[in-house]
This record gives sequence, structure tokens and C-alpha cells, in this order.
Amino acid sequence: NLNRVVIASCTPRTHEPVFKATVKEAGLNPYLLEFVSIREQVSWVHMKEPEAATEKAKDLVKMGVAKAILLEEGEEIRLPVGTDCMIIGGGLAGMTAALNIAEQGFNAYIVEKQPKLGGILNRVSNVSHDHIDMPAADIVKAKTDLIEANPNITAYTSTEIESVNGYIGNYKVVLNSNGETVNLDISTVIVATGMREIEPEGMFQYGNDPRVVTQLQLEERLRNSEFGIRNSESEIKNVVIINCVGSKNEERGCCAIGCPVSVKNALAIKKISKDINVHILYRDMSMVKDEQIHLQAAKAAGVKFLRFPDDRYPEVTKEDGNLSVSVNDLLLGSEYKLRPDLLVLTVGFTGDETIDAIRGHLKISTNKEGFFQERHIKLGPLDFPADGVALCGCAKNPKTLKETCEEGIGAAMRASIPMKNGFIEAEGIVADIDLTNCDSCSICWKRCPYGAIKVNENKEPEVIKALCKGCGLCAADCPKECITIVHYSDEQLLAQVEAALEENPEKKILGFVCHWCALGGVDMAGVSRLQYPPNGRLIRVMCSARVPTKLIERAYELGAAGGLVAGCEFPPCHYITCNYACESRIKRAKKRLAKKGYNADNLWLTWCSAADGPKFANVMRDMVKELGLG
Ligand code: SF4
Ligand code: SF4
Repeated sequence: NLNRVVIASCTPRTHEPVFKATVKEAGLNPYLLEFVSIREQVSWVHMKEPEAATEKAKDLVKMGVAKAILLEEGEEIRLPVGTDCMIIGGGLAGMTAALNIAEQGFNAYIVEKQPKLGGILNRVSNVSHDHIDMPAADIVKAKTDLIEANPNITAYTSTEIESVNGYIGNYKVVLNSNGETVNLDISTVIVATGMREIEPEGMFQYGNDPRVVTQLQLEERLRNSEFGIRNSESEIKNVVIINCVGSKNEERGCCAIGCPVSVKNALAIKKISKDINVHILYRDMSMVKDEQIHLQAAKAAGVKFLRFPDDRYPEVTKEDGNLSVSVNDLLLGSEYKLRPDLLVLTVGFTGDETIDAIRGHLKISTNKEGFFQERHIKLGPLDFPADGVALCGCAKNPKTLKETCEEGIGAAMRASIPMKNGFIEAEGIVADIDLTNCDSCSICWKRCPYGAIKVNENKEPEVIKALCKGCGLCAADCPKECITIVHYSDEQLLAQVEAALEENPEKKILGFVCHWCALGGVDMAGVSRLQYPPNGRLIRVMCSARVPTKLIERAYELGAAGGLVAGCEFPPCHYITCNYACESRIKRAKKRLAKKGYNADNLWLTWCSAADGPKFANVMRDMVKELGLG
């Protein structure tokens, strides 16, 4: 007569699907399973406090059981999926994805804003692959020929997306193709919009002097054989390349391809004339595997490498009309002055300029570096949270030729699975509205980030379950408490709060963590065996926006020492903008707590990426210290 299952073991982020399938196989509805993480949240992070760790594990199991008692059966939502896939972006990743989709017998529709296919490769001279240098134009031509010869592929060039409505299996797309309107019925989407250089305006004389160019501008010169303009005035004899321009700082990480590109182009210049002096000024030469061969070849060809300190970039000035570069050689400890005829800046990249429009059309997330944000770095690297939308290539981050092609194929495979099956079963964690007390205030349909709540002719809200992602924002914000989220109802969350604080609440921090990022940070702290105080009792929600003010207040009424809400970092929330909604709600919650006489400073809000194990551990340490629990 088993009617509920509680698994207390590792993190649900990796193992919940396996146990759900097991429960289903055993004949029980998989929504009657609750998962408690006592490995990442207890045994790995409180190794030196066995007694307190055991108490915490018992509490977490008690909280899981309290929720499990209230669990209700749920069901996956089965949606039919056809065989038409739209690929946004006709660069290398998009073309590769389209060919793969078409080779499987499905229909591929490429939407490219430029007049021809090829993307950023149309500006590049040569690319290196498997130790062979190839003209980028040849690669574009070979792919374009294949696309033109394939009857399953339609390529719309000079085309922009006007609107996208619907969901997997049922997207209605309107295109503006060369001024004509085209309507498409699409089942799946692949985002392959590529990237662009970040203009280094005002840096190193860029914009002030035409002799200062970016790597892509150099590529265009090399491609069009305009590099060595052979007249006496403009012949180039000295080239200086500065790497890591605008990258590897507090705003942006490593651009990932700058070092190999700088070496490739230095070699290309040396091939034009071995008499041209080429200096590469770098912070750190990040060259992997095969790229080392190019590095050795560049050194053999006479390219000079000069390493400058991280905090002391070269200075570029103009002296008597000439460019002058002062650089500190970190290895020799000497100052050098170089006088380039051409200064090349290896700048970072960001997503294509259409990224905001595409994000709005498809309701998908971007990150702070201006690229699209995948569902999960390890568990869903080519997916978005929205079913049926895959991601590949430089729309995610800068990539080599090989990586771009591999991702194009990978994204095509992700899109193909539901097209091959003819259906998809979407997660049944969705909103459900009971209209009994609804006064049509409009909050839910105006705030839903996915437009998943429509209003009917009677001004009543209705959830389009295929669009709902279960973030829970609507349920937390509904003033009449009409909305329930399957598997994360108010009653279930409240039961967990009360179970957590049944004993010694004054020693406990009641926390809510979002499934995607914050729980990832908690798990990362566990995997890294970071030790932090065992006072936290964490409740998983799909999104930080799910946490209603009343649950926080209840925790304080029960005597919790502090409260914590942890969600995705800004801006890349897995639910588009829900972390902003959470932030405003926590401000309101603090005011209400203060009015009721509680210390609102004891309610903490933190944003964690899935890699932020140290940050989460530090937050717990800091809270325990501030709250005087240590
Ligand atoms: S927020 Fe609640 S009360 Fe307002 S319209 Fe939506 S369901 Fe009705
Ligand atoms: S749970 Fe989120 S996605 Fe679903 S209807 Fe509510 S706000 Fe929209």
C-alpha cells in the first residue's frame, strides 16, 4: 500500500529523473516522490560536526516527509510535435544544424538577416583546422552548395523575425523576408545567431587613428588581400597585436579564442612577408592542444611574444603622427617602446545585435556578457528551459570552427528528438488557477514572463499549460491566493517550513533556494567539500520568484533566527526576469517584517550561479556570524 516515496540521498538536480522513472516503473505516480539531499547539504559539508549534521539530516528528512504527505498526483503534458524546424542564423553553426536536420528527413528553415549565408566567416580570411589552413570563403561555399542542393532546406536571407507565438509543436512565426511577409508553422527552433566583436571605442587610440584596427578588421584586409598596400607611404613594416583588450576583467571573462586568432593572423602576416616585424603583447597565452603547433610555427617564423603584467596594459600614444606603444615586459622586467604601422586589438565578443529581439520572441534568457544562456552548463548545454528551443555556436560564447560544427550537430539532435517521436512530454510542474476568489485583478497575466496566462472573454485568467514553466511567480503574487503550482503548492511549502522549525527554531536559518542556480551553488559547495555551519534548512523551489511573503513571515512567527532566499545571478535568470520579481518582493517582505516588529535585516537575499559553491558557503558563514549563532 505504498503511496508516497521519500528518497534521502544525493542532489535532486542530477538524480531525481532516475528515481522518478523508478517510481513510475513500480506503478506509482512519479509526482508522489519527494527528494531530499543529505549528501551535498549535510555529509559533505559538515564533516567535522557529526552530531549537528545528524540533526540537520533528520530535519531535512522530516521536511521531505511533511511535503510528501501533501503531494498529489500529477501528469506530464503530452504535445504533438511536427517535423519543421526553424534555424535562426545562417552562420556555420546554423548551416551545420540545418544540414543535419534535413539529412534526418525533417524540414529546415534558415532565417538569416544578412543577404547571404556564412555569418562571421564572411569577414574572416583563413581558419585553421586539423593543422590545415583553409580560406573561410571555401568553407562557406561548400556548406552553401550543400544547402542549396538539399530539397528539405529553405533559406530565407535578408530576413528578420517579426513575431513568434506558441510553443513546441505549435510555433506560428511571421517573417519579413526582403519586404515580403512569410508565415511559418514551426515545431522546433534552433538559435544560432552568432556573435560580434565589442568595439574598443576610445581604447588604445581606436577610433582616433585608422592604423588601429580589431582582429576582424585585420581579417577583412587579409581576406581581400589589402594587407600590404604596396606603395611607399603605406607599406606596413611593423605590426603590434595587443591581446585581452576589454577581456579578463571584472566585467568579462576570457574571450576564449583571442590567443589562437592572434597567433594565426601573426603567421598570416609573416607569410605575406617575413620582413614584417610582428609583436604579440599578451597577458597569458591560452593555447590548447593542437594550437600549440601554431604557436611554435609563429615563433619559428620570427613572431615576437612579449608578456605584460595583468594590471599594466601597454600604453598607446601618438608621437609626431606615429603610433607609439609602451609596454612592460613581465619576464625581463624591462620597458619597451614599439612603433607600429598597424596596431591590432584582440577584443572580446558579445552576442549578435538581434539578441534582445530574439530573447523577447522566444522568452529565453541571456547572460551578463550578452550571450544566450543555456539551460544548464552540464545537464542542458544546448537547451533552453523552454522545450523545443535549442542553442548552438557562438550565440552561446565564442568558439572554434570545430566546436561550432559540433554544437550545430548537437543542437540539431536535440531538436530532432521530439520531431522523431512525434510528441513531447513536458514537465507537469505548472500553474493551476481556481477562479472561486479571483477578482480579475490582472496581476498574474501581466506578470507571467512567458505570457502563459491568457484572459478569456469573461476576463478570467486561463493557464496555457504548454507555455507555463512552473516558475511560481503568479502563485506568489496573486493577492487572492487562487493559483497553485503543481508539486510546489503553498500548503506543501508551508509544511516544510513548519517541519524545519519544529525544534530549536532560534538556531536555524530557513532558506529557499531556486532549483537551477542557487541549488547548483549549494551542490557545488558539497562537491567541493566546503565546510560551513549546519544551521541552514533549505527548501527547494523552481524559482526564487515562487517564494511568497506569507511563508517568510510564517518562518519568523515560528521563531527562525534568520531567513534566506537564494536565486539565479543577474541577469541570467532561468525564468527570464523572475529574479527581478523576487528582489522586489523581498523588499516588500522586509517592510512587512519590520512593521510586525521583526528584525528585517535577518532576512538575506543572495544570487548564486551554479558554480558559486564558495559564495553560498560564505553566505552561510556570514549569516551565522551576523546572527550570533556561531
Ligand atoms: S492574480 Fe489572482 S486574483 Fe488576480 S487575476 Fe490572477 S488569479 Fe485572479
Ligand atoms: S508559473 Fe510562471 S510561467 Fe507558469 S503561469 Fe505562473 S508566472 Fe507564468
